[in-house]
Amino acid sequence: MPTIYPDELVYSWFCRYYVHSGCFSHKMALQELYCKKSDYLSKEFIGNLNNEAMKQIDEIYSLDKLVLDHTMYPQYARFIPLAEKKEALYHLGHDSCDAHHLFPVLPRNDGERYLRYCPLCVKDDRETYGEAYWHRKHQIRNMSICTKHKCRLMETCVLAKSEQCFTLCPAENYISNDEAVFVNDPMVIHYAEYLDMVFDAPMEFENDIPISSILYDGMSRTKYLKPSGRSRYTKMFADDMGEFYGSMGICSVASVYQIQRILLGSLSEFSAICQIAFFLGMKPEELTASSLTEEQIKQEQDSHYMRNTVPVNWELLDRETAPAFEKVVRAVYDGTMNENGRPERVSEKLVYREMNLLGHQLENMPRCKAIFERYTESYPESWARKIIWAYKKLEEEGKPFCWTDIRKISGVKKKNLQEVVPHLISHTNADTVGRIVELIKM
Ligand SMILES: [Zn+2]
Repeated sequence: MPTIYPDELVYSWFCRYYVHSGCFSHKMALQELYCKKSDYLSKEFIGNLNNEAMKQIDEIYSLDKLVLDHTMYPQYARFIPLAEKKEALYHLGHDSCDAHHLFPVLPRNDGERYLRYCPLCVKDDRETYGEAYWHRKHQIRNMSICTKHKCRLMETCVLAKSEQCFTLCPAENYISNDEAVFVNDPMVIHYAEYLDMVFDAPMEFENDIPISSILYDGMSRTKYLKPSGRSRYTKMFADDMGEFYGSMGICSVASVYQIQRILLGSLSEFSAICQIAFFLGMKPEELTASSLTEEQIKQEQDSHYMRNTVPVNWELLDRETAPAFEKVVRAVYDGTMNENGRPERVSEKLVYREMNLLGHQLENMPRCKAIFERYTESYPESWARKIIWAYKKLEEEGKPFCWTDIRKISGVKKKNLQEVVPHLISHTNADTVGRIVELIKM
C-alpha cells in the first residue's frame, strides 16, 4: 500500500493503490481489497474489506484511526448520541454495515452530487507528492470553497455517493486544469471555515451532551427563545435563517421541519446543525466540546413540554416534507438509496425510519401519504423487480451466469419463483422475460 496523505479519503488511497500496484484491472484490485463481488465500494467510508486486506491495513494504520482521520465519519457521526457514535466507529472499521443505518445521511442536492477538488490544492499536491488525491474536506456537505486557498471547489464527474458498479476513480484521472476562482464574500469564507473547524475538531468520546441542549443554550442568548425559556419562535427562526443562507448561495438550507426535529432532539444531521449554530453565532467549540452542566441539560429537556403545547401545523409539515419524502421513497424503490443498488419494496416501517417520522404521522400528511401509496406494491411484484435488476446487472458484467447468481444478488427465494413470473412483464420487455424464465427453468 502507498502512504496515505493528510486528509485523504480511504477511497482515494485505494484508487492510488490500484494505480501503483500494477493491477491490470479494477477487478483484480478490488479482489485484493474486498470480500465478494456484491460488496459495495464506499467512497465516503471503507467498505467491506476481506480479512487479508484488513489485517495488512491494520498493521500500517489502526482501523479506528483510519475511520477517524480518513473517512467522512467526523461529519456524519459528529452529533449522534455517544453510544451510537462508538458503535458506528466500530462498524465502519470492522464490518460491512450500511452507513445509512448508523447515522442520518440526507439525500444529495445539486452541488453535492460529485466529488470535488480545489485547483490550488491539486497544484500543491502535485508539487509535494507528485500526484493529486481526493481530500475529505472538499467533500463536506454544503462546503463550497477551499478554506486554505479561499477559492471555489470544482466538481468532477465522479459521483460522491457509493455506486453499484465498481469503479476506482483516481483523482489524477478525473480533474482538469482549472483556473482558481477566488471568493471574496467574507460571510461565505467565514461559514466554510466554521464547517472546517467543526469537522476537524477531535471527536467527543467522553461526555454525552445532547446537541438539542447545546443549541437550546445557544438560542437562549437570542430573540428566538422567550425569556421564560418555554417557547421558541421556530417559524421566525427558520425564515430568518433561510434568508441569511439563501443570499450566500448555500446549496441546501435546512427546512423548518428539519430545524424543528433538531431542536427537539430527533435529528442529528451535521450540515443542518452547523447552519443553525453558525446563524445563532455559536463558537465551534460550543458544538464540539460542550461544557454544559447537568442542570443546563435538564433545563432544555424540561422545555420539551413545548412540543405538545404548540399544535403541529400538519399542512405546512406535509407540504415541506413532500419533496424530500418523494426523493427517499423513489430512491428506496429504484435502489439508489441502497449501497448495493438493489431495488427494495417500500414498506411503511422503512419509510418511517428513513424519514424519522413519528408513529402514524403519515395519516395527517395527505401529500406524503399519496406518494407512499404510489410506490406501494405486493411482495411478488417487488421480487420481480429485484430479479430483473439482478439479471440486468449480471448481463452488464458480460460474463456467463446462472440462476443461482440471480438468486444470490436479488435475494429472492426459490420457493417464491412461481409467484414472481406473472409480474415480470409489467417491469420489462417480453424478450427479457423470456430469457429470465429460460434461466429459471434450467
Ligand atoms: Zn485548496
